[in-house]
Amino acid sequence: MDPLLIGGLVVSALTAAGIAIARYRKVKVPRDGRWKKPPVVAIGPDVSMTAVRKATDWWAELGHRFGPITRSPAHDSIVILVDPARLDALRPPVVRGAEVYGEGHGLTRTHREGEFLVSAEILLQNGDDALVIAHELGHAIGFHHPRFCPTGHMMHPSAGSWDDHRGLEA
Ligand SMILES: [Zn+2]
Repeated sequence: MDPLLIGGLVVSALTAAGIAIARYRKVKVPRDGRWKKPPVVAIGPDVSMTAVRKATDWWAELGHRFGPITRSPAHDSIVILVDPARLDALRPPVVRGAEVYGEGHGLTRTHREGEFLVSAEILLQNGDDALVIAHELGHAIGFHHPRFCPTGHMMHPSAGSWDDHRGLEA
């Protein structure tokens, strides 16, 4: 056999193995708190119901439950608002007594009492980006960005996708 061909085969086998390991290795996603009961998701007038539903459905497949999605303000809920001005004002995170996660198109603040999340607020740049909403919902149910987060993971701070949910099961 041609040594160059053998070399090529070895390289492609190693590359494939590398991709397989990266794809199936465990991703540890730190989590702070959980909701005592499925949180109501109260959304502002500029937030797309369809996008929010797509995002909550994605989490529901992993076993995370949400209460109704409503346009009425609700206590003990996850509130989602389009508010670019406040989003900018709150960045960088300076708020005490709350976890704040800020990225380009969204920001989430959560409040905990002991181990339980009691409220969360998500501010968005625009209200119909389901992927951004899904990522911020992840924060709203307690997930942080994983360390050494693989590109394409839902909780990647800037390059997430729907395709990678490792470590996010309920
Ligand atoms: Zn984030």
